[in-house]
Amino acid sequence: MTIAIAIVGAGLGGLALARVLHVNGIDAVVYERESSRGARGQGGMLDLHSGTGQQALREAGLIRQFHAIARRAGQDLRLLEPDGTLLLQEDTPDDAPLERPEVDRGDLRDLLLDSLPEHAVRWGHALESADNGTLHFADGSSATYELLVGADGAQSRVRPLLTDARPAHTGQNVVELGIPDIDRTHPDLAAMVGRGNYWVLGNGQSLSAQRNGDGRVRIYLSFHHTAEDWFATSGIPFGDPAAARVRLIELFAGWHPRFTALIAACDDTVLPRPITTLPVGLTWPSRPDVTLLGDAAHLMPPVGQGANMALLDGALLGLALAAHPDDFPAAVKEYEREMFERTSAAGRQSARIQDILASPDASRKMLAFFQPA
Ligand SMILES: Cc1cc2nc3c(=O)[nH]c(=O)nc-3n(C[C@H](O)[C@H](O)[C@H](O)COP(=O)(O)OP(=O)(O)OC[C@H]3O[C@@H](n4cnc5c(N)ncnc54)[C@H](O)[C@@H]3O)c2cc1C
Repeated sequence: MTIAIAIVGAGLGGLALARVLHVNGIDAVVYERESSRGARGQGGMLDLHSGTGQQALREAGLIRQFHAIARRAGQDLRLLEPDGTLLLQEDTPDDAPLERPEVDRGDLRDLLLDSLPEHAVRWGHALESADNGTLHFADGSSATYELLVGADGAQSRVRPLLTDARPAHTGQNVVELGIPDIDRTHPDLAAMVGRGNYWVLGNGQSLSAQRNGDGRVRIYLSFHHTAEDWFATSGIPFGDPAAARVRLIELFAGWHPRFTALIAACDDTVLPRPITTLPVGLTWPSRPDVTLLGDAAHLMPPVGQGANMALLDGALLGLALAAHPDDFPAAVKEYEREMFERTSAAGRQSARIQDILASPDASRKMLAFFQPA
């Protein structure tokens, strides 16, 4: 059977597309490599911006449901220096507009999944390759399509149909850790981190902590100007979490003890996350039967734009297809024209923030970014 629209990847972008198509009465099938919706933890918090990520949810008819799971206080921000100096504290008033509320990524994905018919997502379908209108899956099955949408993230298997571009390492390596149930286990650290984002920016290194809806605080330790193989040479024993925490505390020698106390309080989740990106402004000659969205199209540094862009890509591609239900190539062209321009601008802005984070005196520069003269 030929599927008119095959979407590979049930991440936020692929699901936003499926939802907007569904609302407009257009059938699509999402092929996802994970075996079920709960197969893998979905990670931390996302802030959804009113003009992009939230706009996508508006188009998807889900903004009211989003407001019910969004956390206004998650917009709080504290910016500090490694010696403990507090540079900026922004506490969100109870009646503040929902400009950039935080949401648990898992809750948002569930919201999108629950808005689709059961059969819309085919779990356990890992795409191996696609050619001449046929998808080949790892389990040996195949499917044919009229239009293929690669929503399969950073390591997209669909991308090579359109471009030779590959993600490249940015010189940033991140270690993710976390403190479970922080209010009960470490109330002092809970008060220090606050309700939202807590950033400590040093020279080439940073620590960010973020409160999640379930009471976990996720901690990201960033090491800038480090090589692609840095995890292998850093002396962090990822297989031995207690020893890994000791090594990480060593790497933060000279920082105020309250920051290393955060590392010491973490549980045994210690995850290496090398940061890679696609070239800013990547485009490709439009093809009538294949396109990309989200990280597959424009992988950016993780500074708050990626999920927002993926959601809006999905919604806008869905609207373009609904406007041209008998002319997919025209819809793809219209979508790509807007997407290339919008995501290039977001990519440039993300690269600028990334440069600030990696620079000496990052904390002062970030303060100036938040409070321009
Ligand atoms: C540490 C970190 C923090 C971040 N924080 C933020 C933030 O605060 N705000 C923000 O806007 N962005 C953030 N981002 C970026 C954001 O996570 C991504 O940009 C966003 O998830 C992209 O969505 P997507 O749908 O394109 O891809 P993904 O969310 O990666 O989804 C891709 C889906 O495709 C599936 N898949 C992959 N390969 C195959 C295959 N071969 N066959 C079938 N299925 C496949 C995957 O299993 C997955 O379900 C962060 C990223 C990182 C790494």
